[in-house]
Amino acid sequence: MMVNAALTPQTPAVRGRLTAAAPLSPLVWFKSGGAAEWLFEPADAADLSDFLADLDPAIPVMGLGLGSNMIVRDGGFPGVVIRLGKAFATVEQLDATTLRCGGGASGILVSSKARDAGIGGVAFLRSIPGTVGGFVRMNGGAYGRETKDILIECDVVLRSGERKTLPLDALGYTYRHSNLPEGAIVVSATFRGHPEAPDGIQAEMDRIAAEREASQPLRSRTGGSTFKNPPGHKAWALIDAAGCRGLRNGDAQVSEKHCNFLLNLGSATSAEIEALGEEVRAKVLAHSGVTLEWEIQRVGEI
Ligand SMILES: Cc1cc2nc3c(=O)[nH]c(=O)nc-3n(C[C@H](O)[C@H](O)[C@H](O)COP(=O)(O)OP(=O)(O)OC[C@H]3O[C@@H](n4cnc5c(N)ncnc54)[C@H](O)[C@@H]3O)c2cc1C
Repeated sequence: MMVNAALTPQTPAVRGRLTAAAPLSPLVWFKSGGAAEWLFEPADAADLSDFLADLDPAIPVMGLGLGSNMIVRDGGFPGVVIRLGKAFATVEQLDATTLRCGGGASGILVSSKARDAGIGGVAFLRSIPGTVGGFVRMNGGAYGRETKDILIECDVVLRSGERKTLPLDALGYTYRHSNLPEGAIVVSATFRGHPEAPDGIQAEMDRIAAEREASQPLRSRTGGSTFKNPPGHKAWALIDAAGCRGLRNGDAQVSEKHCNFLLNLGSATSAEIEALGEEVRAKVLAHSGVTLEWEIQRVGEI
């Protein structure tokens, strides 16, 4: 597949950075998988919009945040991966309880700015190692709160290049799912919390960080929760009951610490990680009769 010849790195219209055959493994938590045919890091939303408007509509486009919920398959991504850099890592206070956050801002940055501004209800983002773009697409959540509970609206660049503001109810949120259109890139989001003293928010953030440290393999090559919790069940408990804790496939392993996490112990391929996940699904189905649904996004070609 070829990117439109008018959109090579030499094109003056592209102010950001366009890289051919860009390895994605350094950019994702699992540290595995192939390259993007093209990686585009736009200078700003207008740059992204112009780029997408000129791009052959047949070419697939995918957003990438911190790659904390993603397996990039070993054959790489046949199209353009859009990564939002520093220009999108912004947080601006709009009023006493509202923040407008760039699509590339991290959960730590957003929750810290909210604390400083005395805005409660956003602290849960402290524990999710992703970006605003990933939170909006995945309806990221923790500790009883989800992105949908704080989102007012988001600004997106559609695959066509059109810029649009989508209100909360256009996103069709359910558990770890949104109806964000295919190829749409979230460039910013407006979050609203409630007034709360910064000290109390900091205490909540500390509690969350300590709890995470105790229960999750945070400094590992992983993709976070592998499977969604099926209604009425905890995925980790089903996986544990099926005897999968610590299960291995090459250098891929089901975490001993939190068995809904898969780990790359060193040099696992994405194929080994995904196959281990499928083995876990089969064992859970055989043991409990429950079909686990992948939460991790699996993208690209085998
Ligand atoms: C240690 C660990 C703990 C975790 N804990 C939690 C948790 O408690 N709760 C939770 O919900 N998740 C958790 N996760 C998973 C992950 O952090 C979240 O899903 C997060 O929202 C992913 O954000 P990201 O920016 O890294 O997205 P990526 O992993 O890069 O991408 C995820 C999806 O979002 C899309 N995407 C990314 N950026 C954009 C954008 N700008 N516009 C449009 N689409 C975009 C991608 O195309 C992909 O479909 C955890 C992961 C790890 C590794």
